Amino acid sequence: KAAWVVALMIVGLIMLFIVSAKGHAHSLFWATLIPPFTFFLVGRNWGSILSSIAFGICAYLVYLQQQLSITIGLSALFNFIEVSIAHVLLFRFYERTRFSAYSHLSKRNAEIKLLAETDKLTGLYNRQKFDFELSQLLSENNNERKSNIVMICDIDHFKKVNDTYGHLAGDNVLSEFANILQNKLTNSALIARWGGEEFTIILRDSSLDNAINEAEELRAFIATHLIDNRALTISIGIAKAHVDDTALHLLERADKALYKAKLQGRDQVCVASDNLTKTRYENTLSKSAAI
Ligand code: GH3
Ligand code: MG
Ligand code: MG
Repeated sequence: KAAWVVALMIVGLIMLFIVSAKGHAHSLFWATLIPPFTFFLVGRNWGSILSSIAFGICAYLVYLQQQLSITIGLSALFNFIEVSIAHVLLFRFYERTRFSAYSHLSKRNAEIKLLAETDKLTGLYNRQKFDFELSQLLSENNNERKSNIVMICDIDHFKKVNDTYGHLAGDNVLSEFANILQNKLTNSALIARWGGEEFTIILRDSSLDNAINEAEELRAFIATHLIDNRALTISIGIAKAHVDDTALHLLERADKALYKAKLQGRDQVCVASDNLTKTRYENTLSKSAAI
C-alpha cells in the first residue's frame, strides 16, 4: 500500500509539473523518472501501465505544441541537469536497497546452513553433514580416500543415565561428552553426533595404528574420568576405507566393529574384521609380547 501511495504521489507530482509547464522547457525530461520509480515501487506490470499513461499524456502535450519552434534554453538545461541528478539519486537508493537485501539474505543463508548442519544439543555436525562429508572424502576424484578412517563411538548403557537421573541429566552428559571429543581428538578430526548417544568421527590422512591409539586414549580417559559427575564407559568401532569404498559400506564395517566391542563386554575399541581385529586386550597382549 505504501509503495502504491508513494508511486501515485510521484507520478502525480511529475505529471502535474509537466502539464502545468505545458511540456515546455524540456519539462518532459521529468517523465523519464516515472518508469524507474514505478517499476521499483509497484512492479513491472503496473509500472508499465502507469508509465504508458504518463507517456500518453506527454505525447498529447507534444502534439499540442508541434506548431511551435522549440529551442533549448537555460530552463531546458536546468531541467536536464535536475533530472539527471534525480536519476543518480534514485539508482543509488535502488542499489543500496538491493545490496542490503542481498547482505541480509546471505547472512540468513549462512545461519540456515549452520542450523541444517549442526546438532542443536551438542553443537557438533549432525548426521546429514557427516554423511555428506564422508561421501565427499570417498568420492572417485579424491586420491586420498584410502587414508580415511571412520570411528563410531557409543556411550555404554546410556539408557541407564536417562532412566536413573532423567532425560535432562542425559542431555548434559551428551553435551559434555561432545566437548571431551573435541578436546581430546586431533584438531583435524571431523566429529558428528550421528544420533542418540552415538558419535561418528572421520580421521583424515591417518594410519590405522594412529586411529587405534586415539580411540584407546579416548576410551581410557572416559573410563577414568567423570562425565557430568557420572562414571561412564564408551565402546568404539573403527574401519579404514578401501580404494573403492562407499560411505555406507565404511560406516557399516565400523558399526559391525562397534557391535563386536559391545558383545565382547563394552569399554573397548574394536577394528573392522577386514582391516584387522584388535581389541584393547589384544593391543595390550601384543605390547606385552613385544616387551
Ligand atoms: P549400549 O551399551 O548397548 O549402547 O546401551 P545403551 O543404553 O547406551 O543403548 P540404547 O540404544 O539401548 O539406548 C540409547 C538411549 O539413548 C535411548 C534413548 O532414550 C537415549 N537418547 C537418545 N537420544 C537422546 C537425547 O537426545 N537425549 C537423551 N537424554 N537421551 C537420548
Ligand atoms: Mg549406547
Ligand atoms: Mg547406541
